[in-house]
Amino acid sequence: MIIGILDLQGDVEEHQLITEKTFKEMNIEGTTKLVNVLEDIKDCDGLIISGGESSTIGMHLKKTGIYEYIKTSGIPILGTCAGLVLLSEKTDQDQPLLGLINASVKRNGFGRQRMSFETDITFNNEEYHGIFIRAPYVDEISGDVEVLSKYDDKIIAVKQNQYMGIAFHPELTEDTLVHKVFLNEVLDYIA
Ligand code: GLN
Repeated sequence: MIIGILDLQGDVEEHQLITEKTFKEMNIEGTTKLVNVLEDIKDCDGLIISGGESSTIGMHLKKTGIYEYIKTSGIPILGTCAGLVLLSEKTDQDQPLLGLINASVKRNGFGRQRMSFETDITFNNEEYHGIFIRAPYVDEISGDVEVLSKYDDKIIAVKQNQYMGIAFHPELTEDTLVHKVFLNEVLDYIA
């Protein structure tokens, strides 16, 4: 299995490290690969879009043609923080979105007073410690979107088909739970 990590902004190396740790824990023969230009993504079985500035990342996806590739190939995606914004179909700003999850997202939704914070949450019915950095939240869902986590009555993790969007930063913890759920999704998709 090859997991591509979009190499533009954010915790790219941390995502690589935790994905490789998850391969070991799950006994998967896998490698990670940095994805920058269109050619890079073509042999990937899944893609991770990490945090950063979602509008900048969106423009990069369009410019490189990775946007079209994602839309037509159906490649499974884990989007964290800015990645969640990009996977959604609507946000409070005008910017390129992939629209692969029927969700509307509020950028920087937790406001100034809690720009960054950590808290214990439940993810996919398991205990988890979430790290939030200028995190968005989901304020509306439709269709068959599955809610994987909520905090403060706000939806902070969703999944629809082979796409998973997370408001927090799973790459900044030692816990591989989020990456495990994603790799299982990729395994199902390529089976
Ligand atoms: N607020 C950023 C955005 O919407 C995301 C922040 C992050 O990825 N840490 O683009």
